[in-house]
Amino acid sequence: QLSHRLTRVAHHVPKGAVVADIGSDHAYLPCYLVLNGVVDKAVAGEVVIGPFESARKQVLQEGLAGKIHVRLASGLDAIHPEDHITAITIAGMGGPLICSILEQGKEQLAGVERLILQPNVHSKSIRDWAAANNWTITEEEILKENEKIYEILVLEKAQSPVLWTQRQLLMGPKLLKDQTPIFQEKWRRESDQWKRIVASMESTAQTEEIIEKKQELVEKIQLVEEV
Ligand code: SAM
Repeated sequence: QLSHRLTRVAHHVPKGAVVADIGSDHAYLPCYLVLNGVVDKAVAGEVVIGPFESARKQVLQEGLAGKIHVRLASGLDAIHPEDHITAITIAGMGGPLICSILEQGKEQLAGVERLILQPNVHSKSIRDWAAANNWTITEEEILKENEKIYEILVLEKAQSPVLWTQRQLLMGPKLLKDQTPIFQEKWRRESDQWKRIVASMESTAQTEEIIEKKQELVEKIQLVEEV
């Protein structure tokens, strides 16, 4: 059975899309999408041989080799022009890694209508990338599984320039509006952790670097606590 986290990622894949799941590991997500009739064709990309073999095995076991292409490739190099991919999922990695995959794969993004991204940490980097590259956020979700809190960001091409405040970039424009209990828990946890770091910085030498870092954290704490 698919995890709650990946089930929620799957929920944002449009019916009838041609999907590429990058960093697919066991290919659980594309298998689920095909078996549940959400998509008919998919690509599962993996850069590491072990997970690539697991993906291939899983796809064969499910009898889906005719529908899911498993490819050993880095990032969006797993996507070929003849695939006509319309949606990309990237889940279970850090935000900066997801951004570098998107940044290096800009050519393969040409015909893509939707990106469904699930960063484990630092979702802000994805919002920064989206704003800089003219993608907007159409949906955002926050969820908890095994005591860990995850965010899902759904991006589509923006029709007009994307302008978000620092707070929206950090916390998410849609998530800020909804302010669910999980959202509040996440930011309480983050802010408590930043406060501990600031406190520990007080007892070290006040170099320029430390002072700057401290100021940065104090500003973030303020941004979050005002909410
Ligand atoms: N997407 C699955 C999930 O959400 O459960 C697997 C997440 S797993 C923690 C991250 C996977 O991404 C690993 O299998 C890793 O090999 C793969 N990966 C990391 N960098 C990658 C890249 N540049 N291109 C393709 N796969 C990558």
